Amino acid sequence: MSALKNPKKNLLKWYKTHGRHELPWRNSDDIYHIYLSEIMLQQTQVNRVRDEYYPQFLEKFPSLHVLAQAEQDEVLGAWSGLGYYSRARNLHACAKLMPKGLPQSQEELLKLPGIGRYTASAICSFGHNQNIAVVDTNIARVIKRFFALLNPADKTIWHYASDFVNEKDPRHHNLALMDLGSLICLPNKPKCQECPLFKECQGQDEPELYTQTKKKEYKSLELFYGVYIKNNQIALQVSKERMYKDMLILPSVDPIEENFLGKFRHSYTKYRLSVHLYKIDVLEDDIVWVDIGKLENAPISSLTKKAHKFFYLA
Ligand code: SF4
Repeated sequence: MSALKNPKKNLLKWYKTHGRHELPWRNSDDIYHIYLSEIMLQQTQVNRVRDEYYPQFLEKFPSLHVLAQAEQDEVLGAWSGLGYYSRARNLHACAKLMPKGLPQSQEELLKLPGIGRYTASAICSFGHNQNIAVVDTNIARVIKRFFALLNPADKTIWHYASDFVNEKDPRHHNLALMDLGSLICLPNKPKCQECPLFKECQGQDEPELYTQTKKKEYKSLELFYGVYIKNNQIALQVSKERMYKDMLILPSVDPIEENFLGKFRHSYTKYRLSVHLYKIDVLEDDIVWVDIGKLENAPISSLTKKAHKFFYLA
């Protein structure tokens, strides 16, 4: 692939000037910091991770060792509001398995809970500068367009991305591709005239053709929760639902018309939820009382936070 020498060179040159060098995890060689950022970034916008969750989480759990010693509730509490809580549970499980540090090979990383091909390769590339491809949504879009791949299978995209890696500087090559997808090779109306790959890009005539996406399918769900507040404490329960496993949620109730307080809508992953709230004064045995003032740090979801706020505004 010597024909790719120039685009690789141009890509690195572009990255030097336009890359997002200010992101804190890019200025760290601590593998735990890189791993944490990759897990958080999987489903959350960069700004929220950079400004809120990443610094707060690291303040509480500055190393894998400290994280390994924490209780799961504390970890879920620090993750509260970020969603996709299995990420926090897996992170905690990894810390317990590897409190002294993560393995350096992709093969070993893939054996750990919650670490898939993307995360393993990101740790190997960004943390250890290994000669390995990284493919996230942004990079996949660039690769599909640059090589004009029509409906390729995932393994085909990984194959092309691997051939394209710049062995002289794999870490910056992958970061550059990621930023190019995020800043220039946009899903709609890519800025091809500003792109360092423009000259060699095989998909530039019709870039959208190579990245048509299927419409997301959503699922509607009705949820019925009870609200009971006493002595400035709120009654919650440990969730057994898959969606919020091990988090504290409001107790589920059977709807009784005269106790109805109101309803609101909430989106969570593929679910579009309609949440109905009811006043209750009889409780099951498995209630956990939480001080209202400590709700912010409790392992609760944004749905429960929203319900609590809604209750006061209703
Ligand atoms: S030239 Fe256009 S389509 Fe090709 S990689 Fe650059 S931005 Fe994407």
